[in-house]
Amino acid sequence: MSDVKLDRSDLVVVAGGGGFIGGHLVAELRRRGFERIRAVDLKPLGRWYQQHDGVENLNSDLREKDACSAAAEGATTVVNLAADMGGMGFIETHKADCMVSVLINTNLLLAARDNGIACFLFGSSACVYAADRQTDSNATALKEPDAYPALPEDGYGWEKLFGERLCRHFMEDYGLSVRVPRFHNVYGPYGTYAGGREKAPAAICRKVVEAQLDGSNTIEIWGDGEQTRSFTYIDDTIDGILRLVESDFTDPINLGSSQLVTINELVDIVEGIAGVKLERSYDLTAPQGVRGRNSDNALIREQLGWEPSIPLAEGLETTYRWIHEQMTSGARDVAALAFQGVS
Ligand code: NAD
Repeated sequence: MSDVKLDRSDLVVVAGGGGFIGGHLVAELRRRGFERIRAVDLKPLGRWYQQHDGVENLNSDLREKDACSAAAEGATTVVNLAADMGGMGFIETHKADCMVSVLINTNLLLAARDNGIACFLFGSSACVYAADRQTDSNATALKEPDAYPALPEDGYGWEKLFGERLCRHFMEDYGLSVRVPRFHNVYGPYGTYAGGREKAPAAICRKVVEAQLDGSNTIEIWGDGEQTRSFTYIDDTIDGILRLVESDFTDPINLGSSQLVTINELVDIVEGIAGVKLERSYDLTAPQGVRGRNSDNALIREQLGWEPSIPLAEGLETTYRWIHEQMTSGARDVAALAFQGVS
């Protein structure tokens, strides 16, 4: 498969363009001077996290074959960031919904093949990694081959692993050039922070704001807070997506920060940004996911000469300020809008 040199006159399709990562990708493509961008999302336009001038915004259901054909028509590159997903609270209780996203990737791949697309990117996830390699909070960073023998996150992770394999076989059988980043916990402004689909960084920022607004000065943490993760700031994720598209690397690859923290340390950082110290209560019955997970970045350094590097404290500062503003200024409440769901 040859390098894809993105040309600013190419038509780039961003599936899931009304969502968190999709909205930021469209913004970055606009900043870089791309003139032909098609963003597609199931949510009505008024509920997109970001909308940008000069972009063709389509409201359609990409589980449908015809919608995927229309989305891919005339395009050079298709970036699939559309999925019915959320944080642990969502994916543990919506396994069927998560797996139905298989229709999106399948129909988009068929449309990409039939439209002669030069490059197809599938947004995979660290949830493909085998659970038995993530039982220790002192996490050994996950290398790409650790996805096998397969024992991914039930529901959501299986859909992602199947999606990865589908990409590989479309490349082998039909010559479609694919890119398969495994995202690790992406956070930043213009993402979900309430309503049930939010992930840990946004949830903790929201809870810290709430504790100040309602005067409770307490925060509930899911689990004992000693489970570990790495969290990737959105700007690194977008940078990595575009670097990967322009590379010739077609296998699944980690796209994540390797800065490992416990959830308690995450709370420490957000408290520091907010200038508060809260009383912590631990809900040991809440969904927690795996005990420890980190990203091994040897492959991305080798292939792209680059890896995510934005420090957690820096990314959280921007994220906390944005969530604080959303909750206190009466600005459009994207989280409440997001909770209305996509199915
Ligand atoms: P998001 O929920 O903010 O965005 C996904 C978008 O897909 C939503 O706007 C949703 O409306 C849209 N969508 C859902 N079903 C659709 C359908 N049938 N047709 C058209 N659009 C549909 O999520 P995100 O954080 O931006 O994630 C983007 C991709 O990255 C997803 O595939 C997700 O699984 C993957 N991912 C994200 C993270 C993360 O931490 N955010 C981590 C790993 C993987």
